[in-house]
Amino acid sequence: MNGVMILVAIVAIGAMAAVVWLGVARSSASAAATVERIQRLAPEPPGAAPAEKVVKSEEEWRKQLTPEQFRVARQKGTERAFTGEYWDNHERGVYRCVCCGQELFDSETKFESGTGWPSFWAPIRPSAVATEMDSTLGLTRVEVLCSRCDAHLGHVFDDGPNPTGLRYCMNSASLTFEKR
Ligand SMILES: [Zn+2]
Repeated sequence: MNGVMILVAIVAIGAMAAVVWLGVARSSASAAATVERIQRLAPEPPGAAPAEKVVKSEEEWRKQLTPEQFRVARQKGTERAFTGEYWDNHERGVYRCVCCGQELFDSETKFESGTGWPSFWAPIRPSAVATEMDSTLGLTRVEVLCSRCDAHLGHVFDDGPNPTGLRYCMNSASLTFEKR
C-alpha cells in the first residue's frame, strides 16, 4: 500500500514538474518573440536616444514620489489590476514618466486590453523605453523601463493588436497624463 502511494506521489510530482517546465518554456519563447518583434519595428538611428540620464538616490525618489509610485516605479512593483488611475482613461493626450517627465506613450496607441492596466501597442518613440529580460515569478517576461531614468513601467507582450502586435502593459503609478 505504501509503495503504491509513493509511486502515485512520484507520478504526481513528475506531472507537476512537466507542467511548470512547459509553462516556463512557453513564456521564454514568447519573450524572445516579443523582443524580435520590437527589433523589427524600425529602430531609431544611433544618436536618437535620450541625451542624458536622470540619476537620483533612492532617498530622493522616495521624497518625490507617493509610496505607491515609489514601490512600482523604483522597486519594480505592480499595481493591482483595475485600481490604477489610467486603465480606463479615454482622454486624448500624452503619458509621461512619473519620475523624470519623459514622454512615453500617446493616447493614439492606447487600446482596451481588458487587463485592468493601461495598454499601448507602441511607445511614443522607440528610444523612449528600454527593455530587459525579467525572469522573476518563474516566467520569462520582457520588462519595460523609462530609457531616461530606468523607472520600471511594466512589461511588453507579443499578443497586442495591429499594427505592431505588441502589448505594452503599463502601471498607472509609473505614469502621469497630460491632456491635449
Ligand atoms: Zn523616467
